[in-house]
Formats: sequence, C-alpha cells, structure tokens
Amino acid sequence: MMGRIRTLSQDMISLISAGEVIDGPWSVVKELIENSLDAGATHIDVEIKNGGIDSITVSDNGWGIAKDDMEFCGLRHSTSKLARREDLDAIATYGFRGEALASMAAVADVQIVTRSHEEELGTRLVSRVGERRVLSEASRPHGTTVEVTHLFSRVPARKKHLASPKTEGQRVADVVLRHAIARPDIGFRLLKDGQAEMDCPPKQQARDRVAALWGGDVAKNLVEVNLARAGMSVRGFAARPPVSRGNRSHEYFYVRGRPVEDSHLSGAIESVYSSLLMRGRYPLAALDISLDASRIDANVHPTKREVRILGIDEVVALAKDAVRAALAVETPPKEPAFVLSPGRDESLEPPLFSSSRQRISSRERVRETPLTTNVLLEADTLEVPYAEKKEDTMQIPALGGLFRIIGQLRNLYVLLEFEDGLVIVDQHAAHERVMYELLRRDLNSGPIPVQELLEPIVLRLEHRDAERVLELAEPLERLGYTVASFGGNEVLVSTLPDVLGHRASEMEVTAIVDEILDLGVEHPSEHFMDDVVKITACHSAIRAGQPLSIEEMRNLLTAMANTPNRYNCPHGRPTIVRIGSQELEKRFGRIQP
Ligand code: ADP
Ligand code: MG
Repeated sequence: MMGRIRTLSQDMISLISAGEVIDGPWSVVKELIENSLDAGATHIDVEIKNGGIDSITVSDNGWGIAKDDMEFCGLRHSTSKLARREDLDAIATYGFRGEALASMAAVADVQIVTRSHEEELGTRLVSRVGERRVLSEASRPHGTTVEVTHLFSRVPARKKHLASPKTEGQRVADVVLRHAIARPDIGFRLLKDGQAEMDCPPKQQARDRVAALWGGDVAKNLVEVNLARAGMSVRGFAARPPVSRGNRSHEYFYVRGRPVEDSHLSGAIESVYSSLLMRGRYPLAALDISLDASRIDANVHPTKREVRILGIDEVVALAKDAVRAALAVETPPKEPAFVLSPGRDESLEPPLFSSSRQRISSRERVRETPLTTNVLLEADTLEVPYAEKKEDTMQIPALGGLFRIIGQLRNLYVLLEFEDGLVIVDQHAAHERVMYELLRRDLNSGPIPVQELLEPIVLRLEHRDAERVLELAEPLERLGYTVASFGGNEVLVSTLPDVLGHRASEMEVTAIVDEILDLGVEHPSEHFMDDVVKITACHSAIRAGQPLSIEEMRNLLTAMANTPNRYNCPHGRPTIVRIGSQELEKRFGRIQP
C-alpha cells in the first residue's frame, strides 16, 4: 500500500526557507494540534508536565500514519500535504512544509505511537536526540499520540531562553484555547501536571464554546459578528461593553480558522471600541476571516503566528463594519432585565446585585465591594404596563422598566428611583452619547444638518493655526463647519452643525476650534472625523452644572433609551451608575453582610 507521505524535493525544501520552527512548548503544541486537525481528528487531548518543559503529549483520534509512511519518512523533512509548487499558494491545511516533526526531533526526544484507520496494528517510533531511531509495532485505537520530552535538553542555549514553567504553561493554554474557540466541533482537553485545566466536549455550538472558555460574565454580553462582502467574510463573537480586559489577551483573530496575530486587525477592532471603552481597556473578540486562499501570502513563515494578507485594508474595513454592526444590534436578554457588571476587572464573582438574594458571607467581601456598580440596562421587550404611581413616573422599556424621577443632584446628576434601588445618570455624559450617536448617524446617511449663522463668526487665530484650519476646510465642511479665509489670520465661520445652533457664540466656537487644532492632525483620517464628532457632541450636550426641569430630564432619559451604546459616553466613561436596594440595606445595616 502506498502511503500519503512523500519526502520533499530539494527544490521544494529550498523554496520553503527552513527556519526555526520550535520556539518553546507552545509552538510544539501548536504544531501538534494542527497536525491532528489536518488528520481529521474530532478529539484532541493535550497534556503537559512542568509547563511543557519536561513533556508534552498530544493524542488524537485522526486517521493516523500508515506503517509504510513511518518507515519511509521517519522524521525527515516530509509531508503528505504538498507536492507541487502551486500548492504553496493555497494553504488549505494547517501544515504543509513537513518540517515540524523533524524540527522537534532535532531538539527533543520524540515518540510517536500511531495507527492508521486502514491498518490492524499500529506503529511506534522512538527518536532520542543523537541516537538511532527505533520502529516497532504497537497496539492502539486509530489515531496518533506524539510525545515530546526533554525539550532543548541538548541545546542549553535555547533552554536558557525558556520562561518559567508557569509562563510556558500559560502560553500552551493560550494556544489550546485559541484553537478550541476556532473549532467548537472538535473536543479539546488540556491537562497540566495531571490536573484538568480545560475540557470542551466535541460538537459544541460556537457560542457555547466561547462562553464556556471566556466565562459567564462575558457570555451574557456576547454579540455575534457575521458580515460578508466582496468574496470575504468576518464571523465570530465580540463582547459588549462594559465587558473588557486590561490587555489584548482576548483579541483572537483567525484566517480561515487558523489563529493569527495581526496588528492591523487589533487596531481596527480597538478603534471600533474607542468610544465605548475607557483608555487602557481592550475588547474581547474572536473573529475568523475567510477570503480566497490566493490572498494569503505563503511566503511568510507559516509556523509563526503571522500571515500576510493581500489587500489587508479591505479586510480591516470589513472587520470594523462587522463589529460595529454587531454591537449596534440590541439583543433582548432572556431572563434578567438587568445585566450587572461590576466596574472592576474580570468579574469572577457572582453579580453583586443579582435578583436572587444571595448572602454575602465574608466580611472581607463587603470591604472590597465597590460602593457602586456600573449597570448595563438592557432593552426589555416586556411591555410593563404604565403604572401611574406619581405624576413624574415614566416607563422606558429600553431602560428596563418603571422609573420615578427623584430630581437632580448638584446640577450634575439625574437621580431615579426604580424597582430595585437608585439609579444615577450623569447628565452631561449621557447626553454626550446621545448627541454623538445622532451625529454619527447623520454623517453616515448624508450631510450633517447645519445651521447657517445669520451673523458669521470671525475668529482671530495665530497664523499657523489659521492655515491649519483652512487646510482642514473640506473635511470640516462635511462635519457641519464651514470655514473660509477672512484675510490675514482671520477665519470666517458661516455654518455650524445644527445641534450646536443654540451655542453659536464666538467663545464657544473658539473653544471648539482650539480642541480641533489640539488633535494635531495635518491630514484628515477617519479617526479625525470621529474625534471632531466627539468634540461636537461634547459642546452640544447638556452641561454639567445645568439645572434641568422634570420635563428636560424626562426628554433626556427618553433620548437615552433610544440611543445605542448608552452606558458609556463617547470617551468611554460610564453614563449610569446604580446602587441596588440590597447594597443600600447592607450599608444601613438592615441586612447582615
Ligand atoms: P506538515 O504538517 O507540514 O506536513 P509535519 O512535520 O508537521 O509536517 O508532519 C509530517 C507529516 O506527518 C504530515 O504531513 C502527516 O502526513 C503526518 N502526521 C503528523 N502528525 C500526524 C497526525 N497527528 N495524524 C496523522 N498524520 C500525521
Ligand atoms: Mg504539521
């Protein structure tokens, strides 16, 4: 029987520049998982000892390797996946260079036990660094187990560069996690020093897999991303704010199911979230990009985590649109109308204000517990009947129920009583978001409505500033500001965005222009446009310190209820804070902590 594996021609070997394939335990695990996936496995077990430095074992139930192939190739550069030059351009499989196993054998002891699904008996290959390889028979169910031990033990210079077992172990877990998220159809298990760290059953729904791996607080706030155009698609999941992380560890990208790292894509996704998250916070997203194989540059070392995509700008634009669209969709939650997310990092604890009356047992918890919690008020599809408790009671379905406006605090906050406590709305931050979304919508759908000034405003600027404003005249006009030279260092402003109409004073416009100049932009970009929209929103919004009538508060809340992303202002600060009854009762000693 002729097996699948061929040794590569010298031509092929030189065509594929041989490089360093094995970086550390994580890259061994990555290569082995990819081989298992290529072999049609539906179950992959990974076990590491001492962070993978002592041993790494990957077992699968794939189609195995035929005895002939084992004899023929041993662990020389060989592959079953690539025979012709053209194949290089179409990476349908994960591996295709036939160098992963050979590279491992060069720096570690490798044992392969495998049985092809066409054979009765399996084969064992034992390869110790610097010794002859031994092939023998072995029995096992069909599939392959590769065990890599004593990594770099004969290459002290490389061993020295390994991180601590803990860090190496985390890198391994990250590799397994990334693959597990990409392939919910496959069962994955990870054992660290005998302890199960991850156990995903096969044939899971993609959402369930992501939810299981990213945790319950994230699960409730996952939105599905799915957008296709021009022969490309972006699919996956993203988390809705305020769920976020303090670093990029949860930005996962895949190209045709293959995990990649790409700074263009990270930057793109972060820009979508820039108005939703505070500075220093990063989104959670797992996105798979499908596009024609010919657009993936195979000349980049494929065992590294990067690939080069031809026409990356188009892909980036699609990814941004896809995430933006996904976040704009308001999905009504199934049970609780209130999804609470403590304004702290990685809320692993149960929600503080969940409707089930849990008792908080430890005194420590109370002290650690923040006084307030950012609240994510979800659109509520339940039509709560309008109950006229008091004259100023209003029902805002999208804010989750019935509210009574208590009044204003320090002319900064609107206070609301609702069914389970106190809600505090930052009037400026909330209105800023309303205005921002309104302007963005107008900008996308046509020209921004403008107000012609009966008396144009003349600004006297420094020479360089006047020049810069005039250089930006064209994009500014699209944003509602018409500026023209008035001779010398003077600039004439003849229109403002309509939302700013009521604030048309020289002082206000000077402040706006100063902020635009502070952006330090010479050439307008999408980023610039967005920043100017933020500035416009800020100046048109209700001010901090402005007294409001009940009617005005009511209007603000109604506008808010109809605005996407309403829980953060465009700078990412929260707009709503909630103090639940339970928290109040605890503070007043009405219930035992
Ligand atoms: P590549 O994956 O680039 O072909 P590798 O060195 O990773 O090169 O693997 C060499 C060959 O060994 C593969 O082409 C495949 O035929 C076979 N192989 C490796 N691992 C497995 C496995 N888990 N199941 C079946 N075949 C495997
Ligand atoms: Mg491989």
